[in-house]
Amino acid sequence: MSDDVASLARVRERIDAAALANGRPAVDVQLLLAVKMIDAARIRALLEASGTTLIGQNRAQELTATEPDLIGVAHSTHFIGHLQSNKVNAVLRWVDCVQSVDSARLAGRLDRAAAARGRDLDVFVQVNTSGEATKAGVHPDEAADLAAAVGGLEHLRLRGFMTIGANSPETARVRASYDALAQARDDVISSGSPGTAAARELSMGMSRDLEVAVAAGATMVRVGTGVFGARA
Ligand SMILES: *Cc1c(COP(=O)(O)O)cnc(C)c1O
Repeated sequence: MSDDVASLARVRERIDAAALANGRPAVDVQLLLAVKMIDAARIRALLEASGTTLIGQNRAQELTATEPDLIGVAHSTHFIGHLQSNKVNAVLRWVDCVQSVDSARLAGRLDRAAAARGRDLDVFVQVNTSGEATKAGVHPDEAADLAAAVGGLEHLRLRGFMTIGANSPETARVRASYDALAQARDDVISSGSPGTAAARELSMGMSRDLEVAVAAGATMVRVGTGVFGARA
């Protein structure tokens, strides 16, 4: 387990160095642990030993299997994967935020499910900034409309935007997708649409490209491999 703590510290150092190199305070960039395929005992041990509290799950089944074992450990869970409508209720029981809102229909379902639970829910709009067909998210041109739709829902709080960067060895292409997310965020905020003023977060960057994302303005990077090693 101390291996995970050491790896986590190294990732945090990378983030801090990237922030500093770009004239940003390190506290502006949160680290979300992408914990897919990591068993609950290992997650629990790392949270307890490191004091890190932010984790992300991208499959509903894994989320609902893991969370009962994390009860009593201070943490906040974000959903970062494709969310099927029949899993909305199960997921809402455990998460503080859904980062993968990519349609008005899903937003509506989340709003109704949150209302039924007597709570509000933080959400991010997911944008497909790479144009890759395998990636979820709305086209950047549609981000403003979806953000406005989300902003109009009573039980959702739009906190920002999420993307998965271009799958490319070319830094310029990866950077372009992160710049596109920052641009979409800026456009939405300057549009003045009701309910969008607080949508400042940019969730972007993973193990291999977090420096690029921080340079483009990421406020949250999502790291799995860099902390836990390659998934089996
Ligand atoms: C797995 C995952 C990550 C982390 O990727 P790594 O390359 O393991 O750091 C980030 N975001 C999402 C949506 C993921 O599913």
